[in-house]
Amino acid sequence: MAANWKMNNGPTSAREFMQAFLDQYPRQNDRTVLFFPPALSLAAVASAIADRRDILLGVQNVYWADQGAFTGELSVGMARDAGARVVLVGHSERRHVFGETDQQTALKCAAVERGGLIPLLCVGEVLDERDAGDAESVVVRQLHAGFAQMTQLATRDVMVAYEPVWAIGTGRTATPEDASAMHSVIRRELKSLCGDRARVTPILYGGSVNPGNAPTLMASPDIDGLLVGGASLDASSWLAVARS
Ligand code: PEP
Repeated sequence: MAANWKMNNGPTSAREFMQAFLDQYPRQNDRTVLFFPPALSLAAVASAIADRRDILLGVQNVYWADQGAFTGELSVGMARDAGARVVLVGHSERRHVFGETDQQTALKCAAVERGGLIPLLCVGEVLDERDAGDAESVVVRQLHAGFAQMTQLATRDVMVAYEPVWAIGTGRTATPEDASAMHSVIRRELKSLCGDRARVTPILYGGSVNPGNAPTLMASPDIDGLLVGGASLDASSWLAVARS
């Protein structure tokens, strides 16, 4: 169950949020919660979850070079050093607001693999692509492109999130049936990329998830978890989603 805070919750509010959340979220054995705070709040979240093995820290973006003259960017090594275990790659806002290409997501996934962290590759079609009947081909293309330069897919952990772009932050959710159908396509493609390991690769759904729709989505075949933006910004709604 992954909380993507996007550009919200600086260090002070991240600390306050974590205190409110952890007070009511005792250790769980049957699920993992992931937090993707803004980079400046990594330290606040890392220290709050220090003794929690059921909660992982992630970063929202990295650059693929190890170090150098790349003003404003973060490397995988820095993310690891700050306590991150997972890296979001190819989030729709990176693709559609910042113009990130399939080729760049591939470089980022490869850098994440090299650096020993877990990529959470986000894929999803825009509304015109869905209306044109191209949703599946877009998702399959993004999936293969994102993992194209990873060399150890059969042995390394990866995660995937299906996030139809038209459902992100819009209040429109894919029906559980549509989401499930795309997740099974993703599972099938993952088998061709990762072999047997694909059976246990978490495939998360994201797009206007809230405490009301989370249980139905979680009950749907092939939906292993949720990637949540808006509803992860309020401790009580995030608690409800994380428990669903
Ligand atoms: C997201 O940021 O990945 C997301 C799914 O946002 P929201 O839950 O607000 O639609």
